[in-house]
Amino acid sequence: MMFSENVAQAVGRVSMRSETFINGRFRPARSGETLACITPIDGSEIGRISAGDARDIDDAVAAARTSFEAGHWRKMGPRDKRKILLDFADKIEANADELALLETLDMGKPIAHTKSVDIPLVVQAIRYYAEAIDKVNDELGPAPHNAVSMIVREPVGVVGAVTPWNFPLLMASWKFAPALATGNSVIMKPAEQASLTMLRAAELAAEAGLPEGVLNVVPGDGAAAGKALALHMDVDSVVFTGSTAVGKLIMGYAAQSNLKRVALECGGKSPQIVMEDCPDFDAAANAAAWAVFYDQGQVCTAGTRLLVQNSIKAEFLKKVAAVAKGLAPGDPLDPATQFGALVDETQMNTVLGYIEKGASEGATLVCGGERALGQSGGFYVQPTIFDGVTNKMTIAREEIFGPVISAIGFDNFDQAMMIANDTIYGLAAGIWTKDLNTAHRAARTLRAGNVWVNCWDGSDITTPFGGFKQSGFGRDRSLHALDKYTELKTIWMQLSS
Ligand code: NDP
Repeated sequence: MMFSENVAQAVGRVSMRSETFINGRFRPARSGETLACITPIDGSEIGRISAGDARDIDDAVAAARTSFEAGHWRKMGPRDKRKILLDFADKIEANADELALLETLDMGKPIAHTKSVDIPLVVQAIRYYAEAIDKVNDELGPAPHNAVSMIVREPVGVVGAVTPWNFPLLMASWKFAPALATGNSVIMKPAEQASLTMLRAAELAAEAGLPEGVLNVVPGDGAAAGKALALHMDVDSVVFTGSTAVGKLIMGYAAQSNLKRVALECGGKSPQIVMEDCPDFDAAANAAAWAVFYDQGQVCTAGTRLLVQNSIKAEFLKKVAAVAKGLAPGDPLDPATQFGALVDETQMNTVLGYIEKGASEGATLVCGGERALGQSGGFYVQPTIFDGVTNKMTIAREEIFGPVISAIGFDNFDQAMMIANDTIYGLAAGIWTKDLNTAHRAARTLRAGNVWVNCWDGSDITTPFGGFKQSGFGRDRSLHALDKYTELKTIWMQLSS
């Protein structure tokens, strides 16, 4: 098995930043403790990162507050701010190969995807919000001739961001780019499994001229560093992407402390509905498979509930299974690999546990279901499809966050809508149909923040991203994201004439 040789070579080609980044400098955690970076590619330790805790969060918040009050960033002219963020994006782009390699080493997704998707989309997000800085205006309200009514947006202040491991730098950029563009000072708490790219990105931001204290990074355990950030009395807002369970804790921390603003993106159990008048069965089957197998199923919008009209289900699932069988897990560092590792051993065991549960609750395994490439020492699971799933089964209700499709049959449109909306989540949904009326009726009936018609995952930095129900609230991406990082202020000026 070549995996370990490839890992050793790749580690030699990256600069790993491992310490907390506070006030423009790297330094060890106050406790001196570190956490192992285990690459899921072969299960080996590739480095260690600082285990930040409440004391490091205190330091980072103090640095952020000082920079915010000093105003070196907040009060900087729009065009100067824009230039620094554009330079930051250029530096990410110039170091894209290294960042892609770091991301693949740290969390196991194929290098083909980190190079062509993750890092280019980070660059796009930073550029988009940089360009917004000198293009979004405030408002003047109607007022008598001797008064001026101004409705202005001001930065919320010190923003804490707690982010996940599935698209580590990309999810982080959806938070820090709009937060910085609106003049805030920021503390990032990346997931302990995948902090390396955020640490390197913070260094590049400083090189681009972002004043010290404006972007800080404290890696560490969520229950220590993440909790301290969300409980901190001097943090004005906390934004989060991750599980619904931790999202609820974050809301609690905000309530227990200073009523800081909260925005949550908490995943889903998204339905993809295939009607018997689907316009293109091959395209739909391919999309249905990739909607779950991309990033090994570790995607919050994964279309894990595949609702297929009973009249076409057998034929359609055959096509989806053919795509699944063609996706053998492989070495994430091999540019030809399209399906890599799960993030860690815990996640792999969680997914295998759900697969066992599916079988024990009576679903029929169509393909996959096993750990793969075990001899590599890494954490791989075969693309898996269950048929005969009912919406009451655990694999139809809980977010698995792995490569598992739960196929559910339905007879008619109304039944499909009822099953689709019978979930605590509401992040995404999709329908395949030729009929414009059916498509429109579905789009208006499905309770989800993103609805796709005859596609899956169509999106852009210009469109909002976020959920209904327990998928959270607040939106990433688009100009709507700026709302989360600003307070609205009304200024009424009475003039003498
Ligand atoms: P979590 O929700 O636990 O992690 C997300 C972030 O929250 C991480 O940075 C984590 O830190 C942090 N965190 C954990 N506990 C706390 C806490 N008490 N206070 C503040 N921050 C905290 O997700 P996991 O990584 O554990 O994954 C578990 C499940 O969550 C997955 O199987 C999946 O279902 C879901 N998930 C959903 C994601 C999405 O995009 N919607 C993304 C990731 C996971 P740390 O990891 O360092 O402890």
